Amino acid sequence: GRAAAGEADFHQARLRLSLQEKLWQFYQERVSIPAEEQALARRAALDICAELRIFLHAKLPDMPLREMYLSGSLYDDLQVVTADHAQLMVPLTLEKNLWSSVPGEDTIMNLPGFWLIRRENLEYFPRGSSYWDRCMVGGYLSPRSVLEVFEKLVAGSINWPAIGSVLDYVIRPVVPSETLTLEVQYETDRRLYVDFLPLLVMDDGVSLIAKPHRLGAERHENLWRQSFRVAETTRLRALDQEDDGCRCVCLKVTKAVCKLNPALSRLTSSQLTSAILLLSEREGDWTREALADRFLQLLRSLVGHLEAGRLPCALVPQADLFCELTPAEVDELGYTLYCALSDPEVLLVQ
Ligand code: GDP
Repeated sequence: GRAAAGEADFHQARLRLSLQEKLWQFYQERVSIPAEEQALARRAALDICAELRIFLHAKLPDMPLREMYLSGSLYDDLQVVTADHAQLMVPLTLEKNLWSSVPGEDTIMNLPGFWLIRRENLEYFPRGSSYWDRCMVGGYLSPRSVLEVFEKLVAGSINWPAIGSVLDYVIRPVVPSETLTLEVQYETDRRLYVDFLPLLVMDDGVSLIAKPHRLGAERHENLWRQSFRVAETTRLRALDQEDDGCRCVCLKVTKAVCKLNPALSRLTSSQLTSAILLLSEREGDWTREALADRFLQLLRSLVGHLEAGRLPCALVPQADLFCELTPAEVDELGYTLYCALSDPEVLLVQ
């Protein structure tokens, strides 16, 4: 009867309370990274970036690049567990009259969120007119080929041991790697992975990164990936600022959960950020006291998106952020999260 229901509610509330406490404890002890550790990692990344700038300017003065810069969660306080990775953004400049962008939905692949970069006017400006023609494959600018150019340079012609000994780091390119990555050991037990990420910024502000489609089918070879990171992160922060909310904390806790649980490691920051933004559209209470409720709701919404087999990007709903997962991965993620709903504390491995 009523008493039993009341008791169940009370019980439920106590469970909630303890999940709430455990989440904050997990956040403090496991998720957030001490400021000194972050500073050391940023320092190492900056040193490497400076060396690469000098090297590229000296070795390839005519390569049309804008200034490289560091970015990623390490720079906007969204990194979790250990300060161990950063991206080195390498913006390429393209001649406007020689290259045009084709949205993925207008191609035979019908993939919103990906783009082709097509070479134009070849009859008037023959191959070789653009520096980046050397990376043209079948009439399109190939992100893989761009990555290879940098790979040859960074992995092949830079004397990393010499630079490392000057900086007092051990630096080596990671091979094989999907993207081009440098491993920097900056203390005996501390490693930082720096991804080299070539990037195109289009006139309308769309940024495209040279990070190949994960399901490496041949027809996907030339696709550039639209980056939503800056826009999504900015939006998340702005919402938190408006209502003093805990969306970023919720994101970091969930990122840590995914980093520490191998069965969830496929879930990316971008997917989690979008899921939180979508949840924010229908859920208003993001106070610190509501963290456990929002966390559970986030898990539930992820299960829902996985069941639907699709996660719309919060800012560009046509783009499906699950499109690079295989059906088996979707099932495994869905199953793991579904089981976690009844016992979420198992996710907070210490
Ligand atoms: P974390 O790596 O999970 O901590 O999350 P980040 O927010 O740092 O995201 C880094 C990932 O997003 C990398 O895999 C990048 O390849 C990808 N990414 C997509 N767009 C961008 C971008 O504009 N900047 C950076 N730094 N990474 C991007």
